[in-house]
Amino acid sequence: MTLDTDWVKAWMTAAAAVIDEHKHELNTLDREIGDGDHGENMDRGLRAVVVALDKLPEDTAPGAALRSIAMTLISTVGGASGPLYGTAFLKAAEPVGDAESIDDPAIVAMLAAARDGIVSRGKAEAGDKTMIDAWTPAVSAAASAQEDGASAADILREAADAAEAGAVATEPLIARKGRASYLGERSIGHRDPGAQSTALILRAAAETAADE
Ligand code: ADP
Ligand code: MG
Repeated sequence: MTLDTDWVKAWMTAAAAVIDEHKHELNTLDREIGDGDHGENMDRGLRAVVVALDKLPEDTAPGAALRSIAMTLISTVGGASGPLYGTAFLKAAEPVGDAESIDDPAIVAMLAAARDGIVSRGKAEAGDKTMIDAWTPAVSAAASAQEDGASAADILREAADAAEAGAVATEPLIARKGRASYLGERSIGHRDPGAQSTALILRAAAETAADE
């Protein structure tokens, strides 16, 4: 099974729906350790992404669709997370190249490139209580699922499961990057909003891949 531009569009439509559904929860998480706008930021960005993807020509390749997502997120999300998610999608497009579809090794390469892009942009390390703490376990889980010969949907399901666990595991951590780092030890006991939105977005990827 391979994933194509229709999947990229379905993924973003599902991601926009799930972020809309969880907007208040993400705002609440961000209110606890930040400024309370993460749900709002992501909701605005993903709505714009769906509109922009809809306007792309029929024959747009998946890599080009990923670049369109990146540009839209950079220009609409704002905050720290806009450039970070934007860089993630921009970098994710690189291993996909001009291919008509995203094969299983490319799914893993795409997730790894997204994670590496966020790291190079935001300089967060594992355990700094950021979205990286969802992305890094997701990449590892996707890579081992792919090595075991899992289907595209199962690779993404493993990634989403690991991202969810990673988001939960940010709760006891002290934030060392972004706005939450201003709180120091007072950030303990709260889940990182960007790690939570990452888990939601990767879950949408897995669910739409399972429908392909
Ligand atoms: P802002 O902090 O500007 O209000 P958002 O609320 O939209 O932006 O996003 C906050 C999220 O961004 C955090 O929960 C965290 O996951 C992520 N984040 C912030 N700084 C970094 C960084 N340097 N590296 C990785 N992720 C980061
Ligand atoms: Mg915020």
